[in-house]
Amino acid sequence: MAELGAARAVDAVKTYGTGDAAVHALAGVTISFPSERFTAIMGQSGSGKSTLMQCVAGLDRLTSGQAFIGDTDITGLSKTDLTLLRRDRLGFIFQQYNLIPTLSAKENIVLPLTLAGEHADAAWFDEVVATVGMGKRLDNLPSQLSGGQQQRVAIARALVPKPDIVFADEPTGALDSRTGMEILTFMRRAVDESGQTIVMVTHDPHAASYADNVLLLADGQIIDEMPQPTADRVLDRMEKFEA
Ligand code: ADP
Ligand code: MG
Repeated sequence: MAELGAARAVDAVKTYGTGDAAVHALAGVTISFPSERFTAIMGQSGSGKSTLMQCVAGLDRLTSGQAFIGDTDITGLSKTDLTLLRRDRLGFIFQQYNLIPTLSAKENIVLPLTLAGEHADAAWFDEVVATVGMGKRLDNLPSQLSGGQQQRVAIARALVPKPDIVFADEPTGALDSRTGMEILTFMRRAVDESGQTIVMVTHDPHAASYADNVLLLADGQIIDEMPQPTADRVLDRMEKFEA
């Protein structure tokens, strides 16, 4: 039997607007994101990367087709059920951190668990916090942290609850290259050592080279896949398709 994957999309179509103004952000995408793997989604600006991630992660709804988290078809879920599924099973890392300004770093990291009425596994919390290098800044407010430090908090917040899947949209886009590399290395380790599943949108070939597989999107369709990518091969391939 084919591997169903941690998440998948089947004939996914997302159209914004109608008539002459219609934009086909997803033009029929069928894809599976395998469990315990790191998948990167690449493509030029406007190719549909964020739309694909948001529709598979239940942050937005498809115009037609289906999206699954594990065995659950999320296409027909009510808003409440979708919110609960996201809370219990998914983690998110966005480019603009989305931290709560009045909560400390530590309070931000455990917020998803607090909201679910649960407690963090102390050993895992310590390990994640140590790896993102935030152990000494846990009592600081976001405004007292640099952009890179805020992104580390956002990454810890996504990983501490051990979600089935972490979705990340340009997680290193706003970071200096050294911090970006540390964050990518940590995401890679979370997959290799803890069996985390990660789906990451990026336009950076170097960031994509940390993934197990790269999907290349153009005009709302998957036009290529690159297993075991290197930054050079990703760059070559993107240039070829842009030509
Ligand atoms: P990417 O993340 O690859 O840059 P997006 O998924 O954000 O691309 O966008 C894909 C296409 O859909 C683009 O043409 C974009 O302008 C359009 N689009 C995205 N969101 C909306 C929206 N809320 N309303 C109208 N058009 C949108
Ligand atoms: Mg985007």
